[in-house]
Amino acid sequence: MHTAQEWLQKICDLPLPNKVRLMNVCGGHERSISMAGLRKALPSQIDLIPGPGCPVCVCPEQDIYQAIQMALQEDIVLVSFGDMLRVPVNVAKKDIRTLEQAKAAGADVRPVASPQEAVKIARAEPHKTVVFFAAGFETTIAPVAGMIAEGIPANLLLLLSGRLTWPAVSMLLESEQPGFDALIAPGHVSTVMGPEEWSFVVDKHHIPAAIAGFTTESLLAATYSVLRQLIEQRPFLDNCYSQLVRPQGNPVAKRLIQATMDVVDAPWRGIGVIPASGFELNQRYAEHNVRLRFPDFAKQARENAGQMPPGCDCAKVVLGKITPLECRIYGSPCTPRNPVGPCMVSDEGACRIWWSSGLRK
Ligand code: SF4
Repeated sequence: MHTAQEWLQKICDLPLPNKVRLMNVCGGHERSISMAGLRKALPSQIDLIPGPGCPVCVCPEQDIYQAIQMALQEDIVLVSFGDMLRVPVNVAKKDIRTLEQAKAAGADVRPVASPQEAVKIARAEPHKTVVFFAAGFETTIAPVAGMIAEGIPANLLLLLSGRLTWPAVSMLLESEQPGFDALIAPGHVSTVMGPEEWSFVVDKHHIPAAIAGFTTESLLAATYSVLRQLIEQRPFLDNCYSQLVRPQGNPVAKRLIQATMDVVDAPWRGIGVIPASGFELNQRYAEHNVRLRFPDFAKQARENAGQMPPGCDCAKVVLGKITPLECRIYGSPCTPRNPVGPCMVSDEGACRIWWSSGLRK
């Protein structure tokens, strides 16, 4: 095992090209990179690009709009992971643009830290309908699937905004300008879905890839791996997080997801529909599906929802097309205290992470 200093030295000793762009697709990776100051520590030829790694940032406006409208109904308790409460939507009824504002207007909106908390609330409030607005990537969706498979109360419904990570990377690689030369693949997603999920990057697109954990050492090991692959023109999928990422991933988690959900075409905020990129409850759990139980709300949300707030470049940031600093309103007026776009709200959003690590225009 090398120390971070040793990995840095090994990277500096490589015959690097003039410019090389490495994309990560995990908010946890981006936070570790930013907080450790890796952008400054690495040779200047290396560009570390945050890509689609924030599920809250890509949660479609129509889902947030629907959650807000439902929360404002009598006898509905809306529960969601904390980040989602402050994400603003573009369209508003009575000037309510976030779940937090709906709560201030009297709606019963409660943050939860785990799916089990949603079940507890539903059991404690049997005469109310509890709507669990669950947005997340594979790592968040697996415990939600576990909760459903265990059996949930009849009054607990789900507004599911689950997304798969790899289709967004695939979409970028299929585009004319993917914008990166190698991929640092997400460790947590790979623990669930297996490293094989990323084989297409190498097999189909011949792009180097390495799965990284969340320590500086693991991220630098993956960085070194993909740089070496690039230099030697020998792309392969390297697992630099083998302590936790095993072949085939976590079979129990995958079974639970398959037993409770279907993979569907899904909209990503500001980006559009990406084929086979979303999780939706399967037919067996249709009576718990908010979209099916309240079709009028779903229709209204689809018709009213727009995309990003004016001036917000979150979609370009999420796809790694620009850095947060290049957004026209980064820092003024968009800050964590006054977030304009979702990337400044979520702990996994690149803008929030860059701001928290002291990066200013
Ligand atoms: Fe969106 Fe704000 Fe980031 Fe601009 S600075 S991309 S508005 S979150």
